[in-house]
Amino acid sequence: MTHLLDPAAANLTEWLATQGQPGYRAAQVRRWLFAGRAPSFAEMSDLPTALREKLAADYQIWTTTVPLHKQTGDGTEKLLIGLADGEQIECVLLRDGTRRTICISSQVGCAMGCVFCASGLAGVARNLTSGEIIEQMLRLDRLLPADERLSHIVVMGMGEPLANLDRLLPALEAASSADGLGISPRRITISTVGLPRAIHRLADANSRYNLAVSLHAPDDELRHKLVKVSQNIPLVEILAAADRYFETSGRRLTFEYVLLAGLNDHEQHARRLAKLLRGRTALVNLIPYNPVAGLPYQTPSPTSVRQFVDTLRGGGLNVQVRERKGDRIDAACGQLRRANAEPRVVSLAK
Ligand code: SAH
Repeated sequence: MTHLLDPAAANLTEWLATQGQPGYRAAQVRRWLFAGRAPSFAEMSDLPTALREKLAADYQIWTTTVPLHKQTGDGTEKLLIGLADGEQIECVLLRDGTRRTICISSQVGCAMGCVFCASGLAGVARNLTSGEIIEQMLRLDRLLPADERLSHIVVMGMGEPLANLDRLLPALEAASSADGLGISPRRITISTVGLPRAIHRLADANSRYNLAVSLHAPDDELRHKLVKVSQNIPLVEILAAADRYFETSGRRLTFEYVLLAGLNDHEQHARRLAKLLRGRTALVNLIPYNPVAGLPYQTPSPTSVRQFVDTLRGGGLNVQVRERKGDRIDAACGQLRRANAEPRVVSLAK
């Protein structure tokens, strides 16, 4: 069966032609999937019954299952998604005022090797397909009541999105197009460990999505210790690529910085970070470490976070501290899957 939500596989227009159906049926099906939240072909009531049955025989809308659905009192919901091959990924819905933000995954696991992150502990298993990325969006959208719509997307779940750009871009196209979820590119953020070639590719493609670059250190020496993949990628190359993306997209850059007590949260780190980023139209997003079971890293005290913020602001930077939502449901990337992991997955982590 063909995955209808996978733009590369579906070929719905051609399929409809072989069925002798008018071309406008493709738009009808699309409307049911994205705006109408139809759970199956049976609900697509303006399609002829025979066509609905033929669609159901040749196509599947859903390839995934939801083995776990967690909620907190603060409106955060997290889904553990089971993929057809038995792998698992995670995605999250966050409610904040009128915002309905989702955080989605781009790969099963991750190969970037950030030492403090749960997602990469077992390495990367594979890229997600565009259809699997879109399924996360639609499953989270369907958690909302009829009169609410998703407003923002952050690609900050499991995986490195820029290592799977070929599948991510068609999925974000479905998110942003008027006949998809209709979410403006300015409300969609791609978070990257900082892969310069892929950032240049985004700039070349005239992408209008926001870019968030995970720095975590003000110099290469410390960064090499915290982010394994960075050993081949100097900060100057990442910043040059990010600056170019800023020029072509006009989007303010965001730099993410996970604060790890005693490792990268000293005043001297803040001073050097301020110096490194000086003169840029950028926002620094500080993320106090969310502890991962079995890893030795610690969250800094509120006082030392405040001092770090003050030093950065004193150095002329825009700074925001990320509010920790959903801690109680393991909402940090990769944690739910890990907590629910099969022994097979755990043994890979050694
Ligand atoms: N691979 C991408 C996106 C995935 S994670 C990237 O590196 O940006 C999104 C952000 O969450 C990254 O900045 C990542 O470093 C951070 N993160 C991962 N694990 C974390 C943890 N346990 N606590 C706080 N932030 C974490």
